[in-house]
Amino acid sequence: MLLYFLPLLLLGIFFHIQYHRIAAESARAHLQVIAEHQAITLNLFLRERLVNLDNVIDDPAFRDLSGRTSFLERALADLRLTSDAFVDLGVVGGDGLLLDYQGPVHFPGAVNYRDESWFKDLLGAGRKSVITDIYLGVRNNPHFTIAVKRERDGEVSVLRSALSPEKIHEFLASLEGAGEVHAAVVNAAGVFQVVTPRVGLPLNSSPYLPPRSPLRGPMRAAGGAAAGECAYAWLSEVPWALVVQDALPAAGPASLLGMPRGILLITLAFFAIMGGVIVLRARQLVTKQLAAERHEADLSGQLVHAARLASVGELAAGIAHEINNPLAIIAEEAGLLKDSLDPDLPEDEEEPDLKEHLRIIHDAVFRCRDITRKLLAFVRHAEVKLEQHSIDAILEDVVGGMLGSELATSNIAVVCEYDPEAREILTDRNQLAQVLVNLVKNAIDAMSGGGTLTIRTAHKGDRLLVKIKDSGCGMTPEQLQKVFMPFFTTKAPGKGTGLGLSVSFSIIKNFGGNMYVVSNPGQGSTFTLELPYAMNGQRAV
Ligand code: ADP
Repeated sequence: MLLYFLPLLLLGIFFHIQYHRIAAESARAHLQVIAEHQAITLNLFLRERLVNLDNVIDDPAFRDLSGRTSFLERALADLRLTSDAFVDLGVVGGDGLLLDYQGPVHFPGAVNYRDESWFKDLLGAGRKSVITDIYLGVRNNPHFTIAVKRERDGEVSVLRSALSPEKIHEFLASLEGAGEVHAAVVNAAGVFQVVTPRVGLPLNSSPYLPPRSPLRGPMRAAGGAAAGECAYAWLSEVPWALVVQDALPAAGPASLLGMPRGILLITLAFFAIMGGVIVLRARQLVTKQLAAERHEADLSGQLVHAARLASVGELAAGIAHEINNPLAIIAEEAGLLKDSLDPDLPEDEEEPDLKEHLRIIHDAVFRCRDITRKLLAFVRHAEVKLEQHSIDAILEDVVGGMLGSELATSNIAVVCEYDPEAREILTDRNQLAQVLVNLVKNAIDAMSGGGTLTIRTAHKGDRLLVKIKDSGCGMTPEQLQKVFMPFFTTKAPGKGTGLGLSVSFSIIKNFGGNMYVVSNPGQGSTFTLELPYAMNGQRAV
């Protein structure tokens, strides 16, 4: 999971940081554009007002001292039509004395601007106009003064006007209208000149102190609620700066972890789906792997079994080979000995013990030969001689002929139910009879106190089924597991070899058939042979 998720997580963090950086950069650029454009608008407004005053001071009627009062009155009315920011108009002499005035203020005595800083600035060489900072003035109302200067015939005359900052205020308010930004105008000392109530109060010191150089750029507001990214632009007409600040963070948490909620949800959904897919896929893979391992274990179990059989086979071949020749010699010698005993000898001269010994030797030799034959049959598979045979006939031979008297003396009833539809099969009669004899003999041994032997044949597709059922002792599950293993026997020493079923099994397999057993302790056993009608398409020889 970690290996799958780690790259995704790192990628997510990388994109998150990139997104943040780009979002911050574009917000900064956006603020910058607003500050620059709106500073140009403000500049234009102020320049227009200066041009308005220039027009008045340059009017020939301005120089006509006799009619100047009425000219000023008309000029103020005209100016107010152009912009209602104009509050009054006053003519000031080179000595600072207010010579003529039109406006709402009634001065009690002579007014002299000689010591005012704006007046001193204006008198400076090369200056033609001046715009002051905002001040309260005699009417305790924030306003600012703009003034223009002319020098004619060595005489200086100044035309000044007080302007209400209301227009600038309205302009800032319209800028804030969309709720995207806060805006304020501050002077070189960082004092609010024009400001909306949401940001601060006029003439109060502001959290913004834009640097004088460069003339425009990004900045960070100092501390407090206003702390954050800003952009500023200095005006060219007056040392004021327009400062704009992003208002969105204060408008409520529209984002989480700095990411818009939509993107965050999509990211989370993506991770959830990826997680689900990974878990499902991992489960499928684990299940598949376990199944493969189980299959492998089964296969290796079968291989071990096959290997064990092979090694037993090799051993058996070795034994058979080694003991066959000596056995032949013993048999021959025993025969000679038996023959040499003269049957016409008088009874008191006979060697009864010798005869008994010879009989035992003889039996033992034939028993050994029997073992070696079975071993060889198990290892080599004797030559198969295929012919068409009726299974009923072979079965009758076994239970009626070969083992008939043994069955009868063992008190065993034989029930035969042959399928009338069963056809003749292509088989090796002797080998099949050997298998059947083996099965019936085992059944007789299992029914030591008598019982019933049921033999059934049935027709199943291209196979013939032969079932040999006894009502004997049956087998435990452990015995069932080993029943086809060579040398497995539960019979007393000298009675069983443990090779009957394993040889039978290999014969039937060699026919291309199958053999299996169902048994329960105390409930008898049923051995089933599945025999193909024809072996791999072979014909009778
Ligand atoms: P053997 O007969 O020499 O013991 P087999 O391979 O023929 O060898 O049989 C192996 C063992 O299988 C027998 O010793 C016996 O325990 C068991 N067995 C075979 N047939 C039956 C049967 N019909 N009922 C109960 N046990 C059987």
